[in-house]
Order: sequence, then structure tokens, then C-alpha cells
Amino acid sequence: MVRSWRVEVDRSRCVGSTICVSTAPGVFTLREDGQSRVVRAEVAPDARILRAAELCPLEAIAVVDGVSGDLVAPVDG
Ligand code: SF4
Repeated sequence: MVRSWRVEVDRSRCVGSTICVSTAPGVFTLREDGQSRVVRAEVAPDARILRAAELCPLEAIAVVDGVSGDLVAPVDG
């Protein structure tokens, strides 16, 4: 089975810093209101997505395993 991740942006947290968009263009994009949204909720695993989730200053991005539902990122260090 092909692994996939589900990516979500919590709009109650996102402040539109654009870090995720510049880190993983094509995965995240900006809405007209300046907040981030995902282009597709289900994506192939990609290190750029992990980096974006870790770099988001508000921890507004959640990446979960598409099969198990386990949180993949961000991981508190
Ligand atoms: S990095 Fe976080 S706060 Fe910045 S635009 Fe992306 S989701 Fe929003």
C-alpha cells in the first residue's frame, strides 16, 4: 500500500507568516485572506512538509499518517 499523509492548517492559529508556502510550495498556498491552506489534504510523504510543520511559529500545521492517524509532525523537541 502506498503511504500517504494528511495535512491540515488550523486557521484559528495561522497568522499568514508564509513560511510554509516558501518551504513547501505546491503543498501550501495562501488564501485571499492571507492565511495558509493546503492544496490537497492528502499528500505523498515529503520532507519539505515535515520541515514546514516544524518551522511554523504557531504550530498551526498538523501532519498525520493517512493510515494510522498518528501525528507525524510537528514533534516537540
Ligand atoms: S507557517 Fe504557520 S503561521 Fe505561517 S502561514 Fe504557514 S500555517 Fe500559517
